Amino acid sequence: MFKKILIANRGEIALRIVRACKQMGILSVAVYSEADKDTLAVRLADESICIGPAPAPKSYLNQEAIISAALISGAEAIHPGYGFMAENAAFAEAVTEAGLVFIGPTAKNIRQMGDKVEAKHQMLLAGVPCVPGSEGALPEEQSEVLALAKEVGYPVIIKAASGGGGRGMRVVEKESDLIKAISMTKSEAEANFGDSVVYLERYLQKPRHIEVQVLADTQGHAIHLGERDCSMQRRHQKVIEEAPAPGITEEQRQQIGEACVTACKRMGYVGAGTFEFLYENGEFFFIEMNTRIQVEHTLTELISSIDIVQAQITVAAGLPLPYQQGDVQLSGHAFECRINAENPYTFLPTPGKISYCHLPAGMGVRVDSHVETGSVIPPSYDSLVAKICVHAPDRPAAVNYMQAALSEAKIEGIDTNLALHKRLFADEGFNQGEVSIHYLEQWIEQNI
Ligand code: ADP
Repeated sequence: MFKKILIANRGEIALRIVRACKQMGILSVAVYSEADKDTLAVRLADESICIGPAPAPKSYLNQEAIISAALISGAEAIHPGYGFMAENAAFAEAVTEAGLVFIGPTAKNIRQMGDKVEAKHQMLLAGVPCVPGSEGALPEEQSEVLALAKEVGYPVIIKAASGGGGRGMRVVEKESDLIKAISMTKSEAEANFGDSVVYLERYLQKPRHIEVQVLADTQGHAIHLGERDCSMQRRHQKVIEEAPAPGITEEQRQQIGEACVTACKRMGYVGAGTFEFLYENGEFFFIEMNTRIQVEHTLTELISSIDIVQAQITVAAGLPLPYQQGDVQLSGHAFECRINAENPYTFLPTPGKISYCHLPAGMGVRVDSHVETGSVIPPSYDSLVAKICVHAPDRPAAVNYMQAALSEAKIEGIDTNLALHKRLFADEGFNQGEVSIHYLEQWIEQNI
């Protein structure tokens, strides 16, 4: 096992990893920008090193500074968290070349899954169900493209192979719009991602977003930890997540989980990963794989009692996964609310100083947060200030637990979306479950 790990991130996830290190008896090194000097992760880590000024390109995205910090501190491995360097294959390579361990999958796997055309190809080979569409990049010949779209059926969606963060996609309702939409998406993709490859899929009308958590080790073992439902999104950003996904049967769970496990084994995948699916009319359709720890991993930890960050560290050290599929027993129901520093009506970010902070606690409540009274939310980074999670025997009880937790939470001095979450947990439609990915935006339109 490693003796010392450097954490190349900030905020709640840096703190989450510091805590996992402490629990495993591993020393932690926090790196920080000048804006994050006084944050909890920096104070609680065993060591800390400033890697640059506030703007992320000069600090958390500065590969040389991060790797130098690791070498100077004597860390043996780097945990990238999520965002920043987490899905950067070149960084994973540079870490390895420096003689350090990247806590995550291989650069090859990151690259494969970062290219959505290649990712889909891998999934089809492993028998993971995908959205019907072009098998690979769109052909150049217009007549072929038109024939393909007709076969798939309108509406279709054109997607950039290198797209991400909800960008580089365009929905096409009818044939006469297709060719123009493709050329527009191609030039946007070239401008934004330096790669003009696009592909085409059927556009699903009212899907849910359901994702499967996997863990794999270097010995070729892989397991799945069930699924999460992240359909409550605004502008492709997840707002509320839950696990398990309402209405998914044990048989469906095992079936889709096993397909993901097969894909991991085929690819030689190592570490934690998430297969994202759209789910409609009882069917799963793969859309992409995230090759990192996710914000909402906490939900799976609550229902499985498996520490995913500790598992990441264990397998990165070359040790076998301490669990077999049969050890994975899911129990109860969990929700997560992402508390953001943003105006609850305009959704504009609200950086500033938190004058008072009380976050909920108690039976069935887990809060992952790096903020406290006096914390300053810098404008330079994402606006997540806390993840409030609850775990209860069943979904109705979990709704009650979340209502209780939210009623207790107080963050003053800056605006947060706490008020939005309170209203959503009082909403009958959401509380019934099984809402589609459009539910939240429609709700906002009607209620705000
Ligand atoms: P990104 O990497 O940008 O997040 P994804 O492929 O994960 O891109 O898609 C982001 C979102 O776009 C999905 O969560 C879904 O809301 C929508 N989307 C993507 N593909 C389809 C599709 N075939 N049908 C309907 N919606 C889609």
